[in-house]
Amino acid sequence: MEINKLLRPHLLNISPYVSARDEYEGTAKIFLDANENAYGSTSDDRHRRYPDPYQKALKQKISSFKGISPSQIFLGHGSDEPIDLLIRAFCNPGKDRVIVTPPTFDMYSVSARINDVGVIRVPLRPNDFSLDLNAMCEAIEPGVKIVFLCSPNNPTGNNLNRDDIMEIVKKIQGLVVVDEAYIDFSSQQSLLDELPNHWNLVILQTFSKAWGMAALRLGMAFASAEIIEVFNQIKTPYNISEITQELALRALDNHKKMGYFVNEIIRQREWLRKALLELPTVKKVYPSDANFLLVKIDGAHEVYKKLIEKGIIVRDRSQVPMCEDCLRITIGNHEENNYLLECLREICGN
Ligand code: PMP
Repeated sequence: MEINKLLRPHLLNISPYVSARDEYEGTAKIFLDANENAYGSTSDDRHRRYPDPYQKALKQKISSFKGISPSQIFLGHGSDEPIDLLIRAFCNPGKDRVIVTPPTFDMYSVSARINDVGVIRVPLRPNDFSLDLNAMCEAIEPGVKIVFLCSPNNPTGNNLNRDDIMEIVKKIQGLVVVDEAYIDFSSQQSLLDELPNHWNLVILQTFSKAWGMAALRLGMAFASAEIIEVFNQIKTPYNISEITQELALRALDNHKKMGYFVNEIIRQREWLRKALLELPTVKKVYPSDANFLLVKIDGAHEVYKKLIEKGIIVRDRSQVPMCEDCLRITIGNHEENNYLLECLREICGN
């Protein structure tokens, strides 16, 4: 199996922890197998039990929703968990490397560094934040185990070109991880339909953005069943709480609501973009396929501080190379966006 050549050698024969809930499946009158508390602390009897370690009901529902087999789905404590598991499973500390494409989500390189894994930076092109395929091909060498791509990209908001991504998937011996945290806001299709043809493609999505459930910490990874099996062997046993599983099931039953949120956020995004462009100190609002706008504004850091004084927190990205003088502004509800504009007009003297 090709995946075994990539895996850190000591994991080839690892024995995962076997929990009480792994040993017995099904219902019984009395469960006295997991050292739980028979009395419980909340009125809800389900909260005193350990949750399903493999989240079968939730994966089944996600499977129907996305058209992906449950064996190709991993659920993590946010997207952060599969990012960390990928590095821990496939990158030998002090030896292997990952590629990241700045400016992008920091967690890929933070997680790599925590695991003592080298980070090769292949910047996006400064004019349109697209992938630099030539530089990428030069950077791909035998010790590179994972390329992390983010589409739509945070903080720039643009989609990466699908053909460019697939070219990297075909070229590399290692894994290509495409983080689609913002895909539901995008005009471009997810790459999920490419999964059956590419064993080395991993796609990350999350319940934190379009689904509006960031506090629950629920991320999804879609990949070949072999990669998902590796995750299952090294994850902590009960990584997704019972409450999270229940609320996510409920959200999926109500998925029309998610569609409504997404449409409304996109509508607000386009309205805010036009309004921001009318401010004289706003030099550019980058096209966005996500739920935020990257805004180039004179004196970005000063504006950031003045917004804080007015009770508004945006993300100051002015120190990030290629995002000089930029603020990243999440799309709020109409009231919030209006207040933001009002404050910006005041700060910018308009
Ligand atoms: N991926 C990207 C590109 C993000 O911007 C973020 C959050 N800022 C995440 C993942 C985090 O997702 P989660 O809440 O699922 O950990």
